[in-house]
Amino acid sequence: MNTSLESVKNYVLLGPPGSGKSTQATKLKEALSLSHVDVGSELRKLAESETDLGKRIHEVINIKKELVSDGLIGCVVEHVIKGIESDRGVLIDGAPRRISQVDEVEAALASHGRKIARVIFLDLSLEEAVKRISIRFLCLSCKKPFIKKEEMSFTCDQCGGEIGQRQDDTPEGVAKRYEVFMSETRPVIEYFEEQRILLRIDARLLPDEIFDILMKKIA
Ligand SMILES: [Zn+2]
Repeated sequence: MNTSLESVKNYVLLGPPGSGKSTQATKLKEALSLSHVDVGSELRKLAESETDLGKRIHEVINIKKELVSDGLIGCVVEHVIKGIESDRGVLIDGAPRRISQVDEVEAALASHGRKIARVIFLDLSLEEAVKRISIRFLCLSCKKPFIKKEEMSFTCDQCGGEIGQRQDDTPEGVAKRYEVFMSETRPVIEYFEEQRILLRIDARLLPDEIFDILMKKIA
């Protein structure tokens, strides 16, 4: 494929818990041959590596158990982008999560001649996020997932283990995660809205409907 760097499109994907972000990331990645930069999983992967960057991340997340600094987020994005073919677009997921990370992410892209074409925000209310996530249960032994139903057994049909819920998925846990995400990320959303590159999507729609809208608007 003969693609000039100018036509390579780079995207950022934002959304609160329950917005279906990973489903859309997978679909977009396949449909547009994008390289999916999942910042959270890249951090965990790098922390296991014996590189200088990996050691720095390991120190912060596993030893000090602190939040990764904005500068380090920028380093991770830069490090991952460096390894991507220049004619392939990227989909950044998990950053910038705070307004202070915007410069870092933009600089990391710019250092490889890239810029953000569109920022996709999957918008979901707190009420809807709670409704969607708090029905998620799992077997506490084998981790098989269950969706809460009227008549749900309390033992796992796979291993006989007890069925329970992750603390993060209880209504209180979801509300807490949602509030943290929104308070940190709202300024980021407003910033990209001012830049006129924000695409706000109603995440209550079905996954296929969301994907159709995305393909019409960004591809
Ligand atoms: Zn089980």
